[in-house]
Amino acid sequence: MLKYLVILVIIFISYILYQRNNYPNYELFTGHNYPNYHRRVSYYTNNTAKHFFSTNKSAVLYLESVDKTTVGDKLPGNNQINNYYQFIQNFTSREKRLLKKMVMALPKSKLLSGDWNFYKTNRLLEYGMPFTLGNVIFMPDIDDSRHYKRTLVHEKMHVLQREYPASFNHFLEKTYKFRLVKRVGHLPFTVFSNPDGLQLPNASWIFPIDGKWYCPFLTIKQGQLSKIAIRVNLVNERTVAIGDHMTPVSDLLASRFPTCPINHLYHPYEIMAELGMKYIIEGTSGDSRIDDFYLKLNNTIICPISNI
Ligand SMILES: [Zn+2]
Repeated sequence: MLKYLVILVIIFISYILYQRNNYPNYELFTGHNYPNYHRRVSYYTNNTAKHFFSTNKSAVLYLESVDKTTVGDKLPGNNQINNYYQFIQNFTSREKRLLKKMVMALPKSKLLSGDWNFYKTNRLLEYGMPFTLGNVIFMPDIDDSRHYKRTLVHEKMHVLQREYPASFNHFLEKTYKFRLVKRVGHLPFTVFSNPDGLQLPNASWIFPIDGKWYCPFLTIKQGQLSKIAIRVNLVNERTVAIGDHMTPVSDLLASRFPTCPINHLYHPYEIMAELGMKYIIEGTSGDSRIDDFYLKLNNTIICPISNI
């Protein structure tokens, strides 16, 4: 009898441990006495990654685009997209504490409210750069530097872009004349697919300079990432053909976005994420139109976990 009881207890404990490992840990922040500013930090474990990469809409879209548009030149993590999930690590308890402390110490802003979901990557994935897929932020390591704080907010801006795509796209088209188009023709370089600034065959952002249109890309040359714009010709309002003239993106966009650092100056979603971060941390992006945009967005946000 006792033998069966022991077996039952062991099964029960195993089940509890299994459940714990398969669900993210939640940390609810209620530090500010305003429901709209709640932040909830979740840490996903690596045994949820396989499921995530095969079911999350933006992860599936991204992995398909990597498969179709990029060849060679990438680090192992990108060449083995079927095994992408294997590069996901587990956070240590110390890392979790530090990450939570960092998120909770960010400025009080509705733009930073809601869920903060994290996966930990390793340095083989995406050159060890932070990125987002859906509403999850992928981070290779954690520290408490000023730079890290800015990176966290930058990544959260990408999550916001996915939550409010119509607001961002409308603003970019109306204010900066960016245009979302379908492109045709072969690209004469290897595209580095950035999940935060996807350039899919049927959806690319272009921008006009002196009456000519350009499409920005992140490419890899001899293991180095570079940001270039290639000339495109309008076939109709929403279709472009790839031309052959290439220019560094910063030469074209630096005067339009003088407060955006050069390493973020290419895809409009990267520019918006970086300037959104400056707006939140420094109080201004240095561009009043972008400040206005984020202020308006801030006023429309209802924190999704405000009722908890
Ligand atoms: Zn980014």
